[in-house]
Amino acid sequence: MTLIAPPFTRSQRAFERASKVLPGGVNSPVRSCQAVDADPIFIDHADGAFMWDVDQNRYIDYVGSWGPMILGHRHPRVLEALEDALEHGTSFGAPSIAEIELAELIVSSVPSIEMVRLVSSGTEATMSAIRLARAFTKRDMVIKFDGCYHGHADSFLIKAGSGLQTLGISSSPGVPEELAKLTVSLPFNDIDALKAAFKEHDKKIAAIILEPIIGNAGLILPKDGYLEAMRELATKHGALLIFDEVMTGFRVALGGAQQLYKIKPDLTTLGKIIGGGLPVGAYGGRRDIMEMIAPLGSVYQAGTLSGNPLAMAAGTAQLRMLQIPHSYEQLEHRTQRLADGLTELIQKSKVVAQVANVTGMICLFFNKDKVTDLASAQKCDTKKFAKFWQALRDRGIYWPPSQFEAAFISLEHSKQDIDDTLKAVEETLKVI
Ligand SMILES: *Cc1c(COP(=O)(O)O)cnc(C)c1O
Repeated sequence: MTLIAPPFTRSQRAFERASKVLPGGVNSPVRSCQAVDADPIFIDHADGAFMWDVDQNRYIDYVGSWGPMILGHRHPRVLEALEDALEHGTSFGAPSIAEIELAELIVSSVPSIEMVRLVSSGTEATMSAIRLARAFTKRDMVIKFDGCYHGHADSFLIKAGSGLQTLGISSSPGVPEELAKLTVSLPFNDIDALKAAFKEHDKKIAAIILEPIIGNAGLILPKDGYLEAMRELATKHGALLIFDEVMTGFRVALGGAQQLYKIKPDLTTLGKIIGGGLPVGAYGGRRDIMEMIAPLGSVYQAGTLSGNPLAMAAGTAQLRMLQIPHSYEQLEHRTQRLADGLTELIQKSKVVAQVANVTGMICLFFNKDKVTDLASAQKCDTKKFAKFWQALRDRGIYWPPSQFEAAFISLEHSKQDIDDTLKAVEETLKVI
């Protein structure tokens, strides 16, 4: 089904209504379509690899709720688990067996996690992991990387200045300068910059936190040996290594990027997929560190809805489905089919672009050179991307509405869906 210039009347009306009561008409800025010069599309329902907007236009969905929907929308096993959980009650404020089940699945799947604490979002997970790292090392400073997103806690909303290892300048108003100074943001894929930062702030760095594969600045893979060298430096300087796998966990492999690259971080943060479409986050890792968390230890972190039974049920059902042999091979095949098709179409067209992909994630950068860090991503032609996004939307493809986001492929994206997408892209490349 190809749509050309579909009606967006109801979405437009909804946006006007929403804008009166919600800042910008949305509850998370990534849902706004400002960066692609468009108004947001309001969704009515979703099923499998598809979403329908309130005007009943159908889209092949490449956002997948920004990662969680790896089995597609409304997967029968997830729905059954939710219905069953609903029968038992929606929240207890006391422990339930469902929490152990999800925790056991996480511990048995992610190589470095010996113990885990369940929370309700990725932001909560990273924020708590940093508090724990600071308590464990008795140090205050944190190293992050330009272009990595770790949720919206104050310590992470720091952008580097123009030069190498610029001390944190708060890049969101409202983040106290005193706190911003404790975060150093460095260029990704540059081991010398990391060495220099350790030299400058020797014995002050509590942790290095990173997305081992960056999915929040388009899609950027680590260079060969980069993560290994980082692991060594962290150990040498007594800093903890935190892999933020909120996006890559259970996506690029069952055990996340750490399984793919065979690196053992000290702590890992998770979210998105582990909630099966409901709000769940988690942080976990070495037992000796995790034992510092209250009530076992003195590092305080709590949550009224942590381990919520509905969220546990959906997450557990989804992770169980992902244990099925060859799930990730299949996801990789689908992703590669899309990546190969896109590469071929670009070569045949006059459009200058690069394809980056890893299992279940893909990005089309409108850039002439390969993207290896935030600075190279920022050279992309975002105006071209905006036209690309709009033309795809008009052809029934819902791509992430930003050049700096990765697109997500689910196990429900069939070969036919991929081929239909490529057909839409072929037409799109001719008109942008
Ligand atoms: C999405 C994301 C977060 C934040 O998770 P929320 O559930 O949105 O708070 C943190 N880190 C990474 C790598 C993410 O992709």
